Amino acid sequence: MENIVVRTKSRVELIDITAQIQDIVTLNHLDEGICQVFVPHTTAGITINENADPDVCSDIINCLNKMVPFNDMYKHAEGNSAAHIKASMLGFSLSVIVEGGRLQLGTWQGIYFAEFDGPRNRKVWVKL
Ligand code: ZN
Repeated sequence: MENIVVRTKSRVELIDITAQIQDIVTLNHLDEGICQVFVPHTTAGITINENADPDVCSDIINCLNKMVPFNDMYKHAEGNSAAHIKASMLGFSLSVIVEGGRLQLGTWQGIYFAEFDGPRNRKVWVKL
C-alpha cells in the first residue's frame, strides 16, 4: 500500500490528486490492473469530476455547503457534523482501471480529494 499526504488549506476544498496517483502507478510499473484509492478519514472523501474548468469544483462545494449547512442543530458534540455528512455523500473510496501504465480516466476527469473539515494534514491510501 502507498500513502499520499494531502495538506489542505481551507475548511472545504477539492484537491486534484490525479498526478500523485498516476506517479504511484508509474513508479510501481503497473501496466494493467486496478488502482484502489481509499480515504481513511471521517470528514474527508474522494470523488472524480471535471478537471478542465475550476468553476465546476467551486460549484460542487457551494452546492454541498447549501445542501448541508455548517450549523443545523446537529447532536454531534465535536461540531463538525456537516463535514461527516458531506464525506459520506461523496464516499471514501474509488477504483480506476489501469491500462498501458495509465489511469483510465475520461478526457475531462480528475481524481479529487474532498476536504470538509480543514485545514488539516490528510492521508490517501493507494493499492494497486
Ligand atoms: Zn466529528
